[in-house]
Amino acid sequence: MIRVSIVAPAFNEAANTVPFHAAVRRALADDPAQAEILFVDDGSTDRTAAAVRRLAESDPLVRLVRLTRNFGNQAAFLAGIAAASGDAIITMDADLQHPPAELPKMLEAWRNGARAVRMVRRRNPDAGLAERLTSGLFHRLLRMLTNLPLAEGAGDFQLIDRSVAAKVLRFSDARPFYRGMVTWLGVSAVEIPYTAAPRGGGRSRIRLRKRLRLSLDAITALSIRPLRLALLLGFGAIVLSAAYLAAVLIAWFCGHSVRGYPTIIFTVVFLGAVQLISIGVLGEYIGRIFEQSRHLPPYVVDGEPLPKNEERQRGGQ
Ligand code: UDP
Ligand code: MG
Repeated sequence: MIRVSIVAPAFNEAANTVPFHAAVRRALADDPAQAEILFVDDGSTDRTAAAVRRLAESDPLVRLVRLTRNFGNQAAFLAGIAAASGDAIITMDADLQHPPAELPKMLEAWRNGARAVRMVRRRNPDAGLAERLTSGLFHRLLRMLTNLPLAEGAGDFQLIDRSVAAKVLRFSDARPFYRGMVTWLGVSAVEIPYTAAPRGGGRSRIRLRKRLRLSLDAITALSIRPLRLALLLGFGAIVLSAAYLAAVLIAWFCGHSVRGYPTIIFTVVFLGAVQLISIGVLGEYIGRIFEQSRHLPPYVVDGEPLPKNEERQRGGQ
């Protein structure tokens, strides 16, 4: 029997679990594969886990992985992939923004031989200018820094084959960036455009601070170019100051008195900024080396995933 795993991290999504489950079941009603729906409770403080348990009572293919605390959705995806038993694993948000109606298309591409299927969000015409600008800028920056063909609009909504999942699980980043892993692995993916839906209920769980951290994680996980940029910045500063010195000397020989105060302020501030930025970039990487050197797991599972794979297999479905 072909198995498909739907992996959905949920952080305080009690209101969305039932509609999400229903939408997935509706979308896969005609699919011959047996689909398990694996919720990863990422340290929710609401009744998400209880809601999933209740679902599992009526649908034996609903499973729950509980993390001991909030580890962030990227780590939660990996926890779900590690616990999934499917031949194809589909990762998607539990808030219905990744429309379950797209699932059949993804499975069709997989059955046609794709090892990875990447869903690419169409531009949201309603998105505010700020959102469009920052998202566009971030992806341009990420592509520039990593040299990886990361499509704008490509997120966590993906299908990966079991063989790819095995490769993904070999990463041992303390701060994983699941989104970039498939691209990094060089696994070619079929891309399917989709239109994101509005959130089912509640508000976005990823606040600005988390989003910024995720962006930093993305960049540092995939590239060391910022370190080189710091070096370039340093060289740039040297060239600039040399040019400035030349200009001052020429002016002096031509008999112009040099008025120093503003230039001194400018130089001090400029060099100070260059140094602070470089130290900051260094610090980001050193902090991550430190974290990595402690061999911390990216997430910790609370007890065993429910129900266990073996139990389910014995239970004869
Ligand atoms: N999520 C999570 N842990 C977190 C934050 C979010 O597991 O710390 C889940 C959340 O429940 C949702 C998905 O990750 O299923 C995407 O989160 P959200 O909708 O808040 O992000 P956005 O869609 O605004 O980028
Ligand atoms: Mg969302």
